[in-house]
Amino acid sequence: MLTVSAAALRQHIIDGETYAAIAHRYGSSEGAVTQRCRRLGVSARQVLGYHRAGRPKGRRRMCVVCESEFSSTGAGNVVCKPCKQIHAGENWTSGVTPI
Ligand SMILES: [Zn+2]
Repeated sequence: MLTVSAAALRQHIIDGETYAAIAHRYGSSEGAVTQRCRRLGVSARQVLGYHRAGRPKGRRRMCVVCESEFSSTGAGNVVCKPCKQIHAGENWTSGVTPI
């Protein structure tokens, strides 16, 4: 029985770990990880904004806030998902304050 928390799963996904890698880390199966992520609302699709099973749309781009590589959805998408969440609620037209 996989008992890893939603926060931990979320962090692994943000770190770029696959369900298989997470399963290996906790000595579980990929199916169990997938199921738990979905149940807790932290599936790769929900956390990253795209489905990892297929090729992510857009190309790899460096986030203007944290400078980590992420999958950009287009020319106007220059901030990674985790940073967007950190700055959620702010006025994007005036830019963000790097953390
Ligand atoms: Zn970022």
